Amino acid sequence: MNHIPILMYHNIGYPPQQAKLRSLYVRTGAFARQMRLLRLLGYRGLSMSDAMPYLRGEKSGRVAVITLDDGYLDALENALPALRANNFSATCYVVSQRNGQHNDWDAAALNVRKQLMSAEQVKQWHAAGMEVGAHSRTHPRLTGCTDAELVDEIAGSKSDLEALIGAPVTQFCYPYGDVDARVVAATRQAGYSAATTTRRGRASAVDDPMQLRRVLVVGSHLLHMFLIKLLTNYEDKRG
Ligand SMILES: [Zn+2]
Repeated sequence: MNHIPILMYHNIGYPPQQAKLRSLYVRTGAFARQMRLLRLLGYRGLSMSDAMPYLRGEKSGRVAVITLDDGYLDALENALPALRANNFSATCYVVSQRNGQHNDWDAAALNVRKQLMSAEQVKQWHAAGMEVGAHSRTHPRLTGCTDAELVDEIAGSKSDLEALIGAPVTQFCYPYGDVDARVVAATRQAGYSAATTTRRGRASAVDDPMQLRRVLVVGSHLLHMFLIKLLTNYEDKRG
């Protein structure tokens, strides 16, 4: 069976001194080396939508999916150059009603305010050939939402972003990986093709496309650890 690593990144760049959970930052140079290594190993780095034929088992090949959560400005400034240099695409999951603002949902916990892309910058990301996915409107814990709130957050972020970029938005990512059967049903109902969690492991065609596992890439990984997570069942055992 074809195992497909869906790589999960948050921030690309150098962590601010006071930031907690500094491992969520992958340095710009490390990210560039990881992308180059993928290419040298014969992998193509793809967005979620570009990878769907592989995730559905219709195609097989050496592909890795690149995802970036939350829509930080550093995706545009620090990740995009390395993605382009290797001719890769990637999906950035955007919180649709926080454009141009900061991570108000976890700034206090992480002790750092991180700049999110403005509406204009989200359009630039898309215009550069990259995918815009949805990550809710306000980054709530979805399992605690009422049914009406679920529709607002899940279907609402899809329509917000489609209006912004003028293209279909078919990929969703659950904030905090917080998901249950009701949240999955609402996501399917909203018309998404697939959705990702924070559960660890590589994806395969037998998985529910609405609950895909991912491979966490953290800043402390040396290149060989990145390779082990990519190529072996190391992450699958942690799912
Ligand atoms: Zn998030």
